[in-house]
Amino acid sequence: MASQHDPDLYFDDGNIVLSAKDGKEQAIYFRLYRGILAYNSPVFSDMLAMPPPQIVEHYDGVPLVEMPDDADDLRVLLSLLFAPQSISGLLNARDFPSKLLEPTRLAKKYQIDWILQAVALQLQKSWPTTLLGWDGVIANEDEEEGLMMGGGWNPLYEDGTLESRLLPDPVSSIHIARLCDTPAILPFAFYRLLTWLTPEHENSEEAMFASWKNAPREELISQQPEDWPRLVKAQKRVGRWFADEVSSLRSNPCPNQPPCQEKTRAWFSFSKNVGRNGDFLLFSKYHSDPTNRSEDSLAKGLCPICKPILQGRINALRWKFAGQLSYFFQLEEVVV
Ligand SMILES: [Zn+2]
Repeated sequence: MASQHDPDLYFDDGNIVLSAKDGKEQAIYFRLYRGILAYNSPVFSDMLAMPPPQIVEHYDGVPLVEMPDDADDLRVLLSLLFAPQSISGLLNARDFPSKLLEPTRLAKKYQIDWILQAVALQLQKSWPTTLLGWDGVIANEDEEEGLMMGGGWNPLYEDGTLESRLLPDPVSSIHIARLCDTPAILPFAFYRLLTWLTPEHENSEEAMFASWKNAPREELISQQPEDWPRLVKAQKRVGRWFADEVSSLRSNPCPNQPPCQEKTRAWFSFSKNVGRNGDFLLFSKYHSDPTNRSEDSLAKGLCPICKPILQGRINALRWKFAGQLSYFFQLEEVVV
């Protein structure tokens, strides 16, 4: 079998060799220092402190430990042990949850707590846990999108921290949040996924699955099979919740003749659909905004008495909805 020394992590004076196979079944050898491994990881510490068996395999004159892990994932993990400062570069990328997913899994396995803590901290910085935080992130994304569609150069493009202010991929974020015990980010990460399910497919789980498959990081779904039914059930729960909320709302009689309530009724019927299929938080922000003078605003054409009532109701329903996210996704263990 072909084998090779890792170009960066093979120190001539190292006192232990770890070997692992890469994706091509090629054995990669890392020659390292036992003390650094033991200092970072109690699991490595125990593993390396065990009395050597009668026959210890050696490689290049030092003890050899064959690792069951993927060599490429192991390389990222070991690099962090030898150059901890390099983690900040990895964490500042927008796709850090997918880049660091496998190394974080190894960090958990070998109990390298500082890596888990650093990833958890970055997740908490990247994902809002409140409606106000969510609105801030979305406003920033909208602004970015508008600028990009405008095609012009923007000084923000030169700002290296900008990427880290946009939401990362929710699938790998959810996955990695579970690894580093950061459940507080789950409600809005799952909400993000919910908004990706397209309205046309509302009655067909297969069709939803098809659209879901087009989303980024589809390969991770197979690693989190429990989250697909969770999402399908959440969509149904949201639909039932809206039906209940809307039926419990009494319409306010308009004092004018003829009354101006047609739009209110239109909103109520639309809200059922958008609640089940669309991005309700975005929809409701748009239509509860008193400064919105657009032609398609649901409050357009309402009298000065009915307009603030409708906008106030939409806003109240918005906050109530955000408070229900843990329930919709059955994340009861989460305290937000
Ligand atoms: Zn009115």
